[in-house]
Amino acid sequence: MKAIVDKDTCIGCGICPDVCPEIFRMDDDGKAIASDEEIPEELVDNAMDAEAQCPVGAIHVE
Ligand code: SF4
Repeated sequence: MKAIVDKDTCIGCGICPDVCPEIFRMDDDGKAIASDEEIPEELVDNAMDAEAQCPVGAIHVE
């Protein structure tokens, strides 16, 4: 599984790097960016948690 952030939708709230810093970080433009790597098994729940908590639905874990 991989995580994708739709930067056009992201409002830069900072929740996702708080919830799952191994996968999400804030980019220079103030929007979140997701790791390009396959999500390690032990982090999938965390990444899906971040997806669920994003207030604007900008994260897709699939
Ligand atoms: S939780 Fe959503 S809106 Fe907030 S920084 Fe992450 S992707 Fe952007």
